[in-house]
Amino acid sequence: MTNRKKSDTTSSATLAGAETPLITVSPRGASRLRAGHLWVYRSDLADDAGAPPGALVRVVDERGRKLGSALYSSTSQIAIRMISADEIDETQLPGLISERIDAAVAFRKQVARNTDSYRIIFSEADLLPGLIVDKYNDVLSLQILTQGFDRTDLREVVGESLTRHFPKTSILERVDARIRELEQLPARETKLLTGERASTIFTVNGVRFHYDGLSGQKTGAFLDQRENYAAAARWAHGNALDCFTYQGGFALHLARVCDSVTALDISRAALEVAEQNEALNKAQHRSGEIEWIEANAFDLLKDYATASRQYDTIVLDPPAFAKTKRAVPTALKGYKELNLRALKMLRAGGTLITCSCSFHVSENEFLEMLGSAAADAGRQVRVLEKRGAAPDHPVLLNVPETAYLKCTICRVI
Ligand code: SAH
Repeated sequence: MTNRKKSDTTSSATLAGAETPLITVSPRGASRLRAGHLWVYRSDLADDAGAPPGALVRVVDERGRKLGSALYSSTSQIAIRMISADEIDETQLPGLISERIDAAVAFRKQVARNTDSYRIIFSEADLLPGLIVDKYNDVLSLQILTQGFDRTDLREVVGESLTRHFPKTSILERVDARIRELEQLPARETKLLTGERASTIFTVNGVRFHYDGLSGQKTGAFLDQRENYAAAARWAHGNALDCFTYQGGFALHLARVCDSVTALDISRAALEVAEQNEALNKAQHRSGEIEWIEANAFDLLKDYATASRQYDTIVLDPPAFAKTKRAVPTALKGYKELNLRALKMLRAGGTLITCSCSFHVSENEFLEMLGSAAADAGRQVRVLEKRGAAPDHPVLLNVPETAYLKCTICRVI
């Protein structure tokens, strides 16, 4: 046997059998956990006991009362993420993770309908903090976001469980270099872990999309919007405009029910995939060819408004404008500008499908912004549906960070 290298210090061989470190959290950290949250920030640790990166730790308050077990990160601001309300040790951890994966898969069997593609594991929302797994037909895409799930032994458990549940699928690891740097993990490449295929065609609500996990550009789909696509198609009509279309998620659904569809995005690479997706679905389209436009949505909406263009359906699904709490006021201004222009361009009876995936902007703030945009546009707006992410992206009531997506469908009357 060869000697273990330094980078292997977080593997099971080093941790198994060792005493499970005991981390003491401050009163603020303890009350956060007692309120049902799963994170403790580094500033709320009273004593980290020198726990190694990625270790399973026991958590207690300053009076020694037990709060459960967590995975520790030596670098993240989120120092511990709870994995169990009980005190467990290293020998129990692989079994617990395997059970959690079983439960996550069983839940998706209940909730993921009309699709071969959905999120199988969503980190905290599945009590598997730091692990995300998406299924695109016969390709699984895995993302590891923390030191804990990067451990060799936990990678093995995850790989074995996924292969057991989805024996015929390839497993691909998508690497976010920035996250690995923040967690001080050795660099890795995006690559296939098992199987031969990294690309496939997947189906959502009967609409087909290309997926290529290894192509250089950003790939994947916004699976959280799956049910919102179907809802949008139920209310959409006439001539439609899909701003921030990415690879055509909403546009391809609207093309089945609308007379014409224009879709825009600032990314040419995304639009190229969108056009290929259009070719897969043309036979079902009621509209003529979709018009794909490479443009900045703020500029184009302004030009179209000046030119008095009118639409019956407009979709707004911008990227998260507020990445921090401090950015919220500026983000709300951005959302308002877009929504105001869209509301002005809708004919009476027209439908606005408007989204925000900024966790820091609450649903109430979003609706207030929309109300104020409607008032400024001089329009009365009826709310048809207030929606969130599809249920394979579950929301934990006491972990507000899991509730990030808002999708409001409304009608200008
Ligand atoms: N609606 C899409 C997801 C949109 S993600 C779907 O359901 O699949 C956000 C998209 O906005 C990205 O494709 C990004 O390229 C695009 N984008 C970002 N800033 C933009 C801007 N100012 N104008 C137009 N598109 C923009």
